[in-house]
Amino acid sequence: MTPQQQLQQWIDGAQRIAVLSGAGMSTESGIPDFRSADGLWAQDMTLADVVSIDYFRRAPSAFWQAFRDIFRIKLIGGYEPNDGHRFLAALEAAGKEVTILTQNIDGLHGRAGNRRVLELHGTLMSASCPDCRMPHPLDYVQQHEVPACRRCRAVLKPDVVLYGEAVPLIDVAFQAALNAELLLVMGSSLEVSPVNLIPVEAARAGIPCVLINYTPTRFDTLFDLCIHAGIGDTCRRLSC
Ligand code: ZN
Repeated sequence: MTPQQQLQQWIDGAQRIAVLSGAGMSTESGIPDFRSADGLWAQDMTLADVVSIDYFRRAPSAFWQAFRDIFRIKLIGGYEPNDGHRFLAALEAAGKEVTILTQNIDGLHGRAGNRRVLELHGTLMSASCPDCRMPHPLDYVQQHEVPACRRCRAVLKPDVVLYGEAVPLIDVAFQAALNAELLLVMGSSLEVSPVNLIPVEAARAGIPCVLINYTPTRFDTLFDLCIHAGIGDTCRRLSC
């Protein structure tokens, strides 16, 4: 049996499927991995320093300037789901219980049609007031260089989980993975904690785990099956 056939067999046999997706899921939609961003935002600051809750609190204007640069926030509306997103939506449409745990902040899983999507690192599609919590949509954020709350004028914080902030949905995500009959990790190099511990726990619980990622990861030996290929290429050869 080829790896592709094995994967098909596991998909066919599982009713509850959890998917952990990372930046590689969206590269075929034209969205670059923000961690490969290489701008000059501020002297001697790393990406993790800039996209951090500390920097947001200390220098909100400079933060927003760098944030826009890194996430090309003005362009985000132009991206479309790709064959990988569409395959996962088709699995759900075919009657499977698909829970997507995504590290991506682009909203493409939801746009493809999946309804059970946990955006573990938040979303670029909105920003909220740190004081009164009022949410503001992306078009408002786009219209203001340093967006401020309509109600209390505090500088808005993107609804993205910044470096230094806790991942609020992490417990729910572990639960979803441990309730599944199959875990697919798609397009994640598993470099970011604590999300990279999800397949560790699932493997420990005896759940079949499959990795679909272009490049090997340091967790490859955990997986029952590793497919080092493109997500679109792999998904186009699978059926629901
Ligand atoms: Zn407010």
